[in-house]
Amino acid sequence: MARLEILEFPDPRLRTKAQPVEQFDAALGQLIDDMFETMYEAPGIGLAATQVNVHRRLLVMDVSENKGQPLVFINPQILTSDGVEISEEGCLSVPQIFEEVQRAERVRVRAQDRHGKVFEQDLDGLAAVCLQHEMDHLEGKLFVDYLSSLKRDRIRRKLDKSRRAQPLSSSRIPTPVA
Ligand code: ZN
Repeated sequence: MARLEILEFPDPRLRTKAQPVEQFDAALGQLIDDMFETMYEAPGIGLAATQVNVHRRLLVMDVSENKGQPLVFINPQILTSDGVEISEEGCLSVPQIFEEVQRAERVRVRAQDRHGKVFEQDLDGLAAVCLQHEMDHLEGKLFVDYLSSLKRDRIRRKLDKSRRAQPLSSSRIPTPVA
């Protein structure tokens, strides 16, 4: 197992559209294990392959309290979605930034597991939000794209500054990041 480097905004590689996974082999299994390790260490609740500079349609998630429900979605497709949920999101690729984003409240997703087997799953609440956030990564999209360009520029400057200085310390209640 190995921890992978997570790309950070505004790295242009985060804008790459991911290609379908076609080979369900040992290398894919290794990538999935490494992505889980990287996500749990961060710590985060979700990680898309795009964020670790692998441009394949694959994401991992675990939104459970005790970090005991790992989920893998390969070549995911949202079949249906409904409801509206506005919640504060954070992203491992946009550190220390938290903003409200509107998403569907419930989704039904079809994907493949690590062996290539097709399954369907209903998700709601945080899991639904996280899945939509990660699927955006596979399209080269970031949650800050939902904000105004003025706000996005402000975030970019803030991140530049915090990379030069010490990491921001924060006393806020942490929002899960994905
Ligand atoms: Zn993210």
